[in-house]
Amino acid sequence: MQSAGRRLTELAGVQMRTGRHEPLNGNIMQIRFHCPTDKCVAIIEYEPLAGCGDTIKCPRCDKEHAIDVTDSMRQRDTVDRCAACNCRELFIRKDFPQVIGVAIVVVFGLAAIYYFTISVLIAWSILAAAVVVDVAIYLVIGKVTTCYACRAQYRKCKLNPDHEGFDLATSEKY
Ligand SMILES: [Zn+2]
Ligand SMILES: [Zn+2]
Repeated sequence: MQSAGRRLTELAGVQMRTGRHEPLNGNIMQIRFHCPTDKCVAIIEYEPLAGCGDTIKCPRCDKEHAIDVTDSMRQRDTVDRCAACNCRELFIRKDFPQVIGVAIVVVFGLAAIYYFTISVLIAWSILAAAVVVDVAIYLVIGKVTTCYACRAQYRKCKLNPDHEGFDLATSEKY
């Protein structure tokens, strides 16, 4: 039988299996967080979170980090508080890779500027196309739940209706 827990990637390129429980209901929630150890730059990814034990070991600094997977995570595939730091405040945002967003603006923007000297109609069409591409990407990408305190990210889970979009005032508390 396949190990329940599966670490995917880590900056050091180390892969390991640390699962101890079988996930329930086929939950595939993924957690991704920066290793809290001082000066350790590893990004730890683990899925399914429901199959995780009490700790996740960082493959770079070898430290076991306490993980508190709640009943809500195990049974309903929903984040109710952060498993890495127990913070109850999390926000939801679109999982939009900013590099792609900027690239679209730059490429289409330059093309539009170039074509403005030739045909205003073409230039406006290019800008319209940029908007369409942006919207299309926005619609197909998923959402990520993020902890305000430690910025742990949760993917492939059901969204918690209690969580809202990013709030600067809440963020500044941490
Ligand atoms: Zn580490
Ligand atoms: Zn957290």
